[in-house]
Amino acid sequence: MSAHAIVLLGPPASGKGTQGRLLAAAEGLSYFSSGRQLRREVRAGSQLGKSAEPYLEAGRYVPDELALGLVKGWISERHRGWILDGFPRTLPQAVELDRVLDSRQEELRALLIEGPVEELERRVADRRECRECSWTGTRAEVEGAQGICPSCGGMVEQRPDDDMENFRQRFKVFEELTLPVASYYKQSKRLLRVWGVGSPEEVFRRVQSEFV
Ligand SMILES: [Zn+2]
Repeated sequence: MSAHAIVLLGPPASGKGTQGRLLAAAEGLSYFSSGRQLRREVRAGSQLGKSAEPYLEAGRYVPDELALGLVKGWISERHRGWILDGFPRTLPQAVELDRVLDSRQEELRALLIEGPVEELERRVADRRECRECSWTGTRAEVEGAQGICPSCGGMVEQRPDDDMENFRQRFKVFEELTLPVASYYKQSKRLLRVWGVGSPEEVFRRVQSEFV
């Protein structure tokens, strides 16, 4: 694979987080999840976390400048390739990311993972994640272990923003704000599209074939 700067695009519960982690592991890239990073900041009680908390509680995305601050700091500390999940979410964020990358922006590829809304809603209801490590999975995978992470033994929970009302709100925001981001990358011939229905392994084979 030649791309070492990848941004993931997709509606909530499209599986882009799972695909991003699989791709990062396969290609030796650093992985950034803006949602996870923000929740970490909130738990740590940092200034950034305090600013972000009201938005997260309301199931809304944080303002551009807050998201930018988070990702710029992270990128500046990476000396190899990376994958961004949850950024850029808006056109101004995408334009600003290109500005930060400068001449390297030509190497960037945006990967859009798509799926029907009924399938996404079903996934939201089932999704669980570990508070301690990067493990994510479904309700069925942790049921027998009473909410214990199969990977590290930490506490597994439903993501605070995973209720149906929040999902529908975020889906609407995705259509309004993030689809223009996909168009932006399409215009500059940097957009790859993958159909996200199927097992994570099936979808990942499609992802990998896009990078050959
Ligand atoms: Zn864990």
